[in-house]
Amino acid sequence: MSLLIKNVRIIDYKTDMCCDLYIEKDQIKDIGNLSYKADEIIDGSDKVLMPSFVDTHVHFRDPGFLYKETLETGSRAALCGGYTSVNLMGNTNPIVDSPGVYEDIICRGKNLNLIDIHSVYAVTKGFDGHTLDHLNDLPESVRFLSDDGKGILSNYTMFHAMNKAKELGVGIMVHAEDPNLSPLDYRIAEDIITLRDIYLAEQTGARLHMSHVSTVDSIDAVRHGKIKGANVTCEVTPHHLSLWDVNYRVNPPIRTKKDVKAVIRGIQDGTVDCIATDHAPHSQEDKAKGAPGMVGLETAFAVCYTNLVKTGRIGLKKLSKLMSKNPADILGIDHGAIEVEKKADLVLVDIEKEYTINKNELMSKSNNTPFDGAKVYGRVEITIYKGEVKYRR
Ligand SMILES: [Zn+2]
Repeated sequence: MSLLIKNVRIIDYKTDMCCDLYIEKDQIKDIGNLSYKADEIIDGSDKVLMPSFVDTHVHFRDPGFLYKETLETGSRAALCGGYTSVNLMGNTNPIVDSPGVYEDIICRGKNLNLIDIHSVYAVTKGFDGHTLDHLNDLPESVRFLSDDGKGILSNYTMFHAMNKAKELGVGIMVHAEDPNLSPLDYRIAEDIITLRDIYLAEQTGARLHMSHVSTVDSIDAVRHGKIKGANVTCEVTPHHLSLWDVNYRVNPPIRTKKDVKAVIRGIQDGTVDCIATDHAPHSQEDKAKGAPGMVGLETAFAVCYTNLVKTGRIGLKKLSKLMSKNPADILGIDHGAIEVEKKADLVLVDIEKEYTINKNELMSKSNNTPFDGAKVYGRVEITIYKGEVKYRR
């Protein structure tokens, strides 16, 4: 299988140029002014070709909640949003806290052959907030531990978890929330755990990744932690950089305009390493009962492009860094640059034409999104995984 993309604007974190790109099998073979005989020729005029996106934080609800999403529907939603690598969270049923559950997800993900599926492994057994014994039996391919969906309240547990993670050579992804404080003050609930965990990372030397950072003070804490030499990275979501004072249930909540400004400043000054969707599908019934979260894979690029690049806050190369290069580096994947001999995982986007997000057109099994009806720029036209067109609008 070979593919020639003609007259396209190629953008990655360090390149912005117009030319042709030739793909053979699963690799980028040539870039320049080209005239290969290919199985398919794609006209790239007026479009932008970027490294496909990588998401450090998604929920595919599989196993256990297949009525919300499955590995397959989630993967198709990812492709529709321009993603070819995702990192699944472990709050499934059963929870991802045993080699059997973990290997089953990884193996089924591979067999689907739609995108690359990675998964975290629970910090505490059954998310009980205390037990770490299961980490003695950690599968080799695990890169990050996380109890996402639930915060780890005990300082004692987190201190030991960080030491254990360091010893095992893995990182911890933190859902920063003190569950006792959440009903009283959702802001303090996030900030106090963020401050504690960055402090503990400084002390233990553990590798820390702060998930869905959403407040002024948590952004500041990450900024100071980096200055002090903590091994910390962080992600922000498309909704926390674009919405404020909106009544839509998500955890952490939609914050104020001041927080959104701080998140954007964090993106501009490099405090924020990557954008992650926290794709959290729910049925209409569960959402009506108050389940927190929204689907995000299919709207992420457009929401970020419209709010960050179209407004002049950052350039498109920087957005590519936030959505491809940096999340790939965090997950330990060789991806994010468009170069000869690199794997052909690419996305072709149209940044010129405005369109309206329609929740009924989503590929995900769920359509819980506050962006329904939003007018945006940055539509994904084609997603290429291992040199094959896996999604075409
Ligand atoms: Zn979370």
